[in-house]
Amino acid sequence: MTDHRIDSARLETIIERILLADGCTADEARTVADHLVMASLSGHDSHGVIRTPRYHIWLGDGTIRAARPLTTILDNGPLLQLDGNDGMGQWLAREATTMGIAKARENGIGLVALRRAGHIGRIGTYAEQACDAGFASIHFCNVNGSLLVAPFGTARRCAGTNPIAVGIPYPEGDDFILDLATSLVAEGKALVAGQGGKPLPEDALVAADGTTTADPRVLYGDSLDTANPDPRVGPGALRAMGDHKGSGLALACELLAGALTGNGANRPVEGQFGNGLLSIIIDPATFDDTNGFAAEVADYLAFVRDSPPAAGVERVLAPGDKERALRIERRANGLPMPEPVLANILSVAAELGVEASREALIL
Ligand code: NAD
Repeated sequence: MTDHRIDSARLETIIERILLADGCTADEARTVADHLVMASLSGHDSHGVIRTPRYHIWLGDGTIRAARPLTTILDNGPLLQLDGNDGMGQWLAREATTMGIAKARENGIGLVALRRAGHIGRIGTYAEQACDAGFASIHFCNVNGSLLVAPFGTARRCAGTNPIAVGIPYPEGDDFILDLATSLVAEGKALVAGQGGKPLPEDALVAADGTTTADPRVLYGDSLDTANPDPRVGPGALRAMGDHKGSGLALACELLAGALTGNGANRPVEGQFGNGLLSIIIDPATFDDTNGFAAEVADYLAFVRDSPPAAGVERVLAPGDKERALRIERRANGLPMPEPVLANILSVAAELGVEASREALIL
C-alpha cells in the first residue's frame, strides 16, 4: 500500500488537541505534539506521531499521567536529581535539560538524574536542545518495565532498547547528534517486518535456543497474528547491537540511567513503565583556554564529511546529518504515513471529539 503524504503542521495541531482532550496542560500538549512531529520529520517514525494512540491508551490506564511536574529530589552544586512522577516524558525531559543547561552555565557542568518519566521519545532531542544553547552533552537512557533485549551470550531478555545520545555543537549549526538505540533494531522495525514490511537483518533477533534469526515471531509469538501484536510474549528477544560491545553499553544504560538515577534497572518481571535518563551537560568554554574548540569541531567534522565515499555510498555523513536532511524533505513534501497509522490517529480524534479533517491532512 502506498503511503499518504501528510501536512505535518496540521497534524501537529490535531495531536496537540488530542493531548489537551486527554487532560494534558497546554504546555505539555504543545511540547509532546512538537516532539512527536519532529521525530517523524527526522525519519524516526517509530518514535513519532504513530505513538499518539498509544499515549491516549496509556493516559487512560494510568501508565503515564498528565499534569505531573518534576519533583526536585537533590539540588547540590552541578548535581540535580529529579522525579518525573510518571508524567509526560518529553515535557519532563525538556524541563530537566533546561535545568541541566542552567547548571552547566553556572558550574561548567550539569549532571542530571531523571527518574520515573513517562516515555521521553527521541533522546537526540535533548542533545539538540543542549547544542542549541551551545553545550555539549551525553545522555544514557533506560526503559524500565520493557524487557525486550537479550545481552550478548543469552536469549534471556534483560534490558530495554536503552538509547544513548551525544551532542556536540557545530559552529555553523550542523551539530553532531549521535542518537541510537542499543538494540540492533528498534521494536517498531520488528513489528513492521512482522506485518509484511521491510525484512530485518538476519541477526536482529535471537530465538529461545540461542540461534540468531530475522523472524519477528520470536519476539511476538502468536500475537503477531492479532490486531495488537505484543512484544512481551514471544519466546526470544531483540539482540543488542555490536555483539559484546553494544551489549555492554545496553547494560551500562540499565546501571547509569536505571540504578543510579533511582528509576530502577529492569528485573525478571516487568514493573511500571518508566524512562530513566542520566544527562551530562558540559559548557565547552570551561576547557577552552585557547578559544579553539569551535574550529577544532568544524575542522574535524569537515575532515569526516569530505572523506571519499565507499562504493554505493552517496556521501559520508556525520551523525545528525541524515535527520536534518529528512526534515527538509518531509517539511516540503509531507510526512509519509501508511493508511492504518492515519486511521488510528483519526479514530482517537473522533473518540475525543477533536475536529480532524482527513482531506485537509493529506497533501
Ligand atoms: P538509527 O540507527 O536510525 O541512527 C543512529 C545514529 O546513526 C543517528 O545518530 C544517525 O544520525 C546516525 N546515522 C544514520 N545513518 C547514518 C549514516 N549513513 N552515516 C552516519 N551516521 C548515520 O537510530 P536507532 O538506533 O534506530 O534509534 C531510533 C530512535 O529511537 C532514537 O531517536 C532513540 O533515541 C529512540 N529510542 C528511544 C527509546 C525510549 O525509550 N525513549 C528507546 C529506544 C530508542
